[in-house]
Amino acid sequence: MDAKQIEGDLALDQTYISEAEIQARLRELAGEISEDYDGKDLLLVGVLKGAVMVMADLARALERDVEMDWMAVSSYGSGTTSSGVVRILKDLDADLTDRHVLIVEDIIDSGLTLSWLTSNLRSRKPASVEICTLLRKPEALKMAVDVRYVGFDIPNAFVVGYGLDYDERYRNLRDIATLAPHVYS
Ligand code: 5GP
Ligand code: MG
Ligand code: MG
Repeated sequence: MDAKQIEGDLALDQTYISEAEIQARLRELAGEISEDYDGKDLLLVGVLKGAVMVMADLARALERDVEMDWMAVSSYGSGTTSSGVVRILKDLDADLTDRHVLIVEDIIDSGLTLSWLTSNLRSRKPASVEICTLLRKPEALKMAVDVRYVGFDIPNAFVVGYGLDYDERYRNLRDIATLAPHVYS
């Protein structure tokens, strides 16, 4: 899906971050990551399903070999707020012992999921665990978890596209768009 289809979809407001902006920023992050992990092996851990697009494009923007693995988690929450209590739906295949792990995420909102995930992965005796997220919302700035690589800091609006869904829709949108307020209010 692209910008023309956004215009025709009443649920979507407007393009918020374009495909070109996303790709340019990912290339910058990939440059930093390549430099920081020079001479070290690197395992990218993608969090399903939202991080699929970021993972695919970030991994290909790196000028080096990486291993990719995936995890699926679900937050137990009351309604729309995540509680920080997380259940693993699909665990990693890789053994993390002595590995350099970079968690790849689509978005950090409250940061509760990622905070839990980071300490879970740290308990597996890796050499290091860092986080790369394409988007970060203001709430996340309050969390104790240190995010090494951030694509864009965005205001507190609900966004879809580029892996991010609204009720499982719009993940295949090339750009990131805001959801029209009438959809959720
Ligand atoms: P938290 O950081 O609050 O534990 O949870 C982050 C998760 O909430 C993300 O992985 C994503 O699934 C969902 N989320 C948070 N903000 C947004 C948003 O603006 N759009 C979409 N589509 N999902 C969001
Ligand atoms: Mg996610
Ligand atoms: Mg979702």
